[in-house]
Amino acid sequence: MSTTLEYLSWLIRDAGLIELCQMDHGKLDIGWYDSADNLLHDARTMAGSGNLFTTINRIDLNAIKAHLEAERRVVLNKVCRTPDAAVTRYCRLFFDFDPKRPTDTSSTAAELAEAEARARGLARRLAAVGWPAPAIGMSGNGYHLQFRTALPNTPEVKAQLAAICQGLHLEFSDDVVQFDRSVRNPARLCALYGSVKRKGPNTPERPHRKSWINIPQDWQQVHPRQVAALADHFARQSAAAMPTTRDRSPVGAPAVSGRGDFSTLDVVAWFAAHGTHVGALSGIKHGVKCPWSSEHTSASPRTGSDSIIYESDGGWPGFHCSHSHCTGRTIRDVMALWGDADAYCSGEFIREAAHA
Ligand SMILES: [Zn+2]
Repeated sequence: MSTTLEYLSWLIRDAGLIELCQMDHGKLDIGWYDSADNLLHDARTMAGSGNLFTTINRIDLNAIKAHLEAERRVVLNKVCRTPDAAVTRYCRLFFDFDPKRPTDTSSTAAELAEAEARARGLARRLAAVGWPAPAIGMSGNGYHLQFRTALPNTPEVKAQLAAICQGLHLEFSDDVVQFDRSVRNPARLCALYGSVKRKGPNTPERPHRKSWINIPQDWQQVHPRQVAALADHFARQSAAAMPTTRDRSPVGAPAVSGRGDFSTLDVVAWFAAHGTHVGALSGIKHGVKCPWSSEHTSASPRTGSDSIIYESDGGWPGFHCSHSHCTGRTIRDVMALWGDADAYCSGEFIREAAHA
């Protein structure tokens, strides 16, 4: 677990200036800081009530000053948030998983665990395409991933982020956990980790929790090219309007394990052959009965959306189960368990270019 001071020090380093915002029953209290120590000192004095948030992107101090002057010329003592136009750079790609639950309540432990499984699943999904490890945060009611970035606040970047959020929403939202697809404004706020999140009444089942964040030892930036590539991937995927069902027989006789080109694996036919395909969900997603469902401690929804396969989008197809017993399991584990994936590949893995 990282300390709040460590988190704020990273933020000062990347963003230069941080807005601290306390929301207490609709009342806002706002200040800007260029020192992690000073911010933390003030946050501690405000921590007794309401909820504390900070900005996460780079802010231009002169733009703030100009904005405050202009606003306060109209209304004296007006409380102003950071305007979006004062944000020069996205320092964090922020992904937010929130359990579905009654409005204005805190999460139960089980709901929180579902959000954690999705967040860790997304971190693995992005690690598979070469993204560095994110910081993982617990907001009090859900889970956050924060990737370090340095992306200019431009319409082009905003469009990239929109494509990514929509694509990830399709992959990771279901009737249990919601992936926040809205591309929030650049001056968006994020929980101040280490503070208590107070939402609804504090009950044993739905308690107020102290948020936390875990920052990787070597917290590397995601390269702008990686962000652009992922945006492009999702943009092409949505344009392709992929079919959701396929009627194709396995090609070829069962081969020796490991001979198949798994990017040609017909993952739907493969799961169907094992009697575990439940139904198409959306896009390239299908609900399945998890091969390890006997280990699960909670029941599955009828759509099978707690355990999901993805058809190939050029690379290997994917498998993700949101139950905690399956944390870390990927399509490779299913291949190892069943041992017959090659029979459902239309192509053979070829090491040499020539194959006379
Ligand atoms: Zn499972």
